[in-house]
Amino acid sequence: MNKNGDVRSASEFKEIFEETGNSYGPYRCPFCEVRYEDRCIVTECVKAPHFKLPNETAHRSGCNGEAGEDVSPGGSGLPNGPRRRVLGEIELPEALVKRRKASVVRRPGDDGLGAPPDAIEVTRRRRLVATDQTISSLFTTSQLRPIVHAYKRLRKHAYEQAVAANFKQGSADYNESFRKTLNAHNLSLYEHKLTYGNAFQGSKLQPWRIERVYYGSGKVRTEGGHLVINDKDSWPKLPKNKADLVPFEVRLSRILEADAPTSHLRALDELERLATADQYVEWYAYGMPMLQMDHFELNVDSLDHLYWIGQHQR
Ligand SMILES: [Zn+2]
Repeated sequence: MNKNGDVRSASEFKEIFEETGNSYGPYRCPFCEVRYEDRCIVTECVKAPHFKLPNETAHRSGCNGEAGEDVSPGGSGLPNGPRRRVLGEIELPEALVKRRKASVVRRPGDDGLGAPPDAIEVTRRRRLVATDQTISSLFTTSQLRPIVHAYKRLRKHAYEQAVAANFKQGSADYNESFRKTLNAHNLSLYEHKLTYGNAFQGSKLQPWRIERVYYGSGKVRTEGGHLVINDKDSWPKLPKNKADLVPFEVRLSRILEADAPTSHLRALDELERLATADQYVEWYAYGMPMLQMDHFELNVDSLDHLYWIGQHQR
């Protein structure tokens, strides 16, 4: 919980910090209001953002930092064993979700400056959050960026695992080991239950007629009211047909919604600049490519769904 009483996961607070440059700290336990130390929220970090109960301090009034009636299986952003897939030092978001509002546990008029909550109030708050999905047990994000970075780190890890097992790069054993590592990590894209192994697709295969994270490398240009990334590779129109290849374009409107977050304005500015720079970008886009007459077109509906390496968030 931040100083305004908004209850969110640590990863959501990190996204807010990256968008606004404000941390809205200090952070507290949403139930007993004991102070938390924040980790990897306002600092650049390969570890997952999280909160830590400072040494020598403890929850109070019967609070254990967990939502619910009793000891429950943890919640993202809370200390005491959140259920999160962290592999070594790799931060692995588990789900791409819609942006959502914070939940509020303080009673109206409570600014958090008075006496800490008593046992009855702690119990009320823990029950309240237990029935609210805002603090989900998943490590979620509403932006592609952390997922792309996790994917790249996981691929590096998969390579190292396969090499450590003495598999030769490109061999069947190597490929199987690589796939197994990626598929061992779940990634849901708006409720579609996938893995890091099957949520992404590049130009070697025919695009699935389904929402996934597509990726490639290309130059940006403007075309009327749109910004367009032309992938440098052609993509197969048909499965297992390497002869019938067509261009692939990612398209985005140059007009943002009126209430677009400032990070979207900055990203759009940057993309406009790239369109004048004749330079390749490594792009990732979530959406469904449609086969037009002679090319695939992926229309991106939000800048949360488009990321390129080097994109500045602040
Ligand atoms: Zn507490």
